[in-house]
Amino acid sequence: MQTMKALVFRDIGRIELCDLPIPQVTQPDDVLIKVSAVGICGSDIKILEGKHHYKENTVLGHEFCGRVVEIGTHVTHFKLGDRVAVDNNIRCGFCSFCRMGLTSQCVEIKYNAIGVMRDGGYAEYCLVPEKQCFAIPDEIDDILGTQVETLATVVNGMNTLLMLPYDYVLILGFGPIGYLFAQFSRNIAAKVAVTEIDPFRIEVARQCGLTVWNPDEDDIVAKITEFTQGRKADIVVEATGNALEQALQCVTPGGKVLPFGMDSSIQATVVPNDITRWATKILGLYLGQNTMVPSIRIFQEKRLNMGPFFSRVVPLEDGINAFSDLGLDLKTLTHHPKNAMKIVMKMQ
Ligand SMILES: [Zn+2]
Ligand SMILES: [Zn+2]
Repeated sequence: MQTMKALVFRDIGRIELCDLPIPQVTQPDDVLIKVSAVGICGSDIKILEGKHHYKENTVLGHEFCGRVVEIGTHVTHFKLGDRVAVDNNIRCGFCSFCRMGLTSQCVEIKYNAIGVMRDGGYAEYCLVPEKQCFAIPDEIDDILGTQVETLATVVNGMNTLLMLPYDYVLILGFGPIGYLFAQFSRNIAAKVAVTEIDPFRIEVARQCGLTVWNPDEDDIVAKITEFTQGRKADIVVEATGNALEQALQCVTPGGKVLPFGMDSSIQATVVPNDITRWATKILGLYLGQNTMVPSIRIFQEKRLNMGPFFSRVVPLEDGINAFSDLGLDLKTLTHHPKNAMKIVMKMQ
């Protein structure tokens, strides 16, 4: 039996480099992908901490692209050698949410996500259903190709926000998601500011030419009030998962708040009277939704400055060390300052 290298999530705090059998095409709609590169996501870190739904003994990795190397008997839209990015969230297509277009709320979405509940792209090969594959053009290299799914979630956010050229935008949290929202905002909005506490990521924001404030040092409400001539932000993207109350303090009357970051351990207090009195729009959304194709076009046409986005490219064998660079000590499950934005593992 032929084997491959893979990083397997054993249980909370435990991820190991293993030799696994190369998966085999068994279903008629299966596509076997030889993974070219895979990104490490904040939700992978949450899985390792036990703060995200997970399944033991699963190959993680949901941000990946690669080449088709084997196909099932019913696969008609892809052929051997095609380069594809993957939507890791499998939507059934049959539940009422799917059939009414709200596929992010598919009743099965939580149970079969690739790289979360079934084996993903932290491996040399990965088996995916044909409908999860999206062809990518040559202009998108393997490193950028890992981020199509990530961008697809942000494009869902942009579709929901309907950002206008005269909007003042504030983005709380400058991780990869905050970075992508900030690049869109620079292209579209009147003015944008971001907040971040990690020195490394503050420096990346500065490299991008962004106005950046540290909530541990600056009074963010005072800063955004001054930045907008007393108006406050028309749009606040909350990309940390723990700052909804701050987002509500920073938004202008009639403005929009997008709670995008996820942390199931956080609770917040809202004053319903204020939401009504100040006509605040709180816009929940989840994952991408019909946004893989738009994301491919955005990358193909180089619409976003992705220069400082990728901090490091490492081989799969060194991938476990990357979790420390992203702020998680695997031995103690405690956090320290991050020294990276996005880290991608590239297969040899
Ligand atoms: Zn992700
Ligand atoms: Zn469904």
